Amino acid sequence: MIETEYAHRRIDLMSWTTYRDRLKDDPIIFLPAGALEQHGPHLPMGCDAILSAAMAARAAEALDGLQLPGLRYGYKSQSRSGGGQLFPGTTSLDGATLTAMLRDILRELARHGARRVVVVNGHVENQWFLTEGIDLALRDLARSQEEMRVVRCEYWNYTPQAVLESMFEGAFPGVDLEHAALLETSMMLALQPHLVDLDALPEDATGAFPGHDVYPQTGEGVPSSGVLAPARAASAEKGRTLIESTVAEMAAALRREFAI
Ligand code: ZN
Ligand code: MN
Repeated sequence: MIETEYAHRRIDLMSWTTYRDRLKDDPIIFLPAGALEQHGPHLPMGCDAILSAAMAARAAEALDGLQLPGLRYGYKSQSRSGGGQLFPGTTSLDGATLTAMLRDILRELARHGARRVVVVNGHVENQWFLTEGIDLALRDLARSQEEMRVVRCEYWNYTPQAVLESMFEGAFPGVDLEHAALLETSMMLALQPHLVDLDALPEDATGAFPGHDVYPQTGEGVPSSGVLAPARAASAEKGRTLIESTVAEMAAALRREFAI
């Protein structure tokens, strides 16, 4: 299970004394951020949290870092990137709540003496509220002259273009529309096949949206399955390729960023 994957790097599975000792090496601390959000009839609603945690765990392993328990709720689902808020089960936070959680966690890490943090985001809608949490935390820390360097990344930005082109044969619909579709389904098949119900995979459909958002949300343009782009070509093999190539790029980028 995901809960014990790379358990030796999980801060929540270690004693405080072990954590204190390992902090002396100035490890990079990884914090996954996801959501509880409908992902079609075939995937679990924790998909974004599971995938961001899997990426964070592998990057932490590659860089000898540590991993925090993830943020398993996220900002409100939007029609064009997650199907929107109208599905039962989608359970979202106000932006200020998400921002405050990250701000608090970063402040606590600084108190422990952690100086390098990577927030690995797996839910499109989280991006700017995580950014705000980082910004407010760094403003707090500047007052007490504590130093911290924080990277916020969306894991999918590391997936090599050549890998995407090979899987979509030139028809990549973009990350937003890939909700519960080929990429996420493939990676879940590679990581947690027992949580994927391929019999429930809907017929392929693609969300059809105008260039704007409407509130209150109407659900217009969202396929009734909640899957925003074709998913039937998903496979565990594609998932393994996606995960390996994405983690390799992420680790390389973070090595450059932190000069290690
Ligand atoms: Zn997702
Ligand atoms: Mn999402």
